[in-house]
Amino acid sequence: MNLILLGAPGSGKGTQAKKIGVRYNIPQVSTGDILREAVSNKTALGLKAQEYMNTGLLVPDNVVIDIIKERIEKKDCGNGFILDGFPRTLSQAEELNKILELQRKKIEAVISFEVNDKILIKRLSGRRICRKCGRGYHVDFQPPKKDGICDVCQGELYQRQDDKEETIINRLKVYKEQTESLKDYYNNKKILKTVNGEADMDCIFTSLTGYLDEI
Ligand code: AMP
Repeated sequence: MNLILLGAPGSGKGTQAKKIGVRYNIPQVSTGDILREAVSNKTALGLKAQEYMNTGLLVPDNVVIDIIKERIEKKDCGNGFILDGFPRTLSQAEELNKILELQRKKIEAVISFEVNDKILIKRLSGRRICRKCGRGYHVDFQPPKKDGICDVCQGELYQRQDDKEETIINRLKVYKEQTESLKDYYNNKKILKTVNGEADMDCIFTSLTGYLDEI
């Protein structure tokens, strides 16, 4: 089962990707995670991507397409994968088609998470992550027991550079201008499924599995 999760930053697609991955035993492939790791390891890729990411702009298509091509050729994607944060432009979507065709694969479903801007801004600006174990928190919706400290490993919590308010506004604008039209693109291919990303996390997952179990 090869899936694409589509949605604005903060729409909850990463959270659902992890849950779907566990249930169907397929990897979550997040271009954002791959790029952040490259930035933190200061690799050539990371140095190239950092500036774009910090300002909320998209990393150039050729860079992310190379990442995806290499990643989905790996053995663990043999039974399927969940693309989280890719494609984000029409040209990425078309390149993905070519890559999949060569591998005799196809996308079974594209799931779009719908959430209004006000909620997205609140979710993103309150998001905090543990430096040590990567666990996610939210200052209002899922606060740690001790301010700024991870409940699980006592690591320090930090705010992603691109979760600062001025960058969030830019990321949402970029989503609307460059990514949102992919919904029409996949709707025309009759593989788009829309979910209410404002609903409770477990309700979304139940409705998604009901749908995915039938594929
Ligand atoms: P995310 O964690 O998915 O919100 O991604 C964080 C940042 O990584 C984005 O704001 C972009 O700068 C970059 N990025 C991630 N995926 C892509 C992509 N498919 N195309 C271009 N840039 C991307």
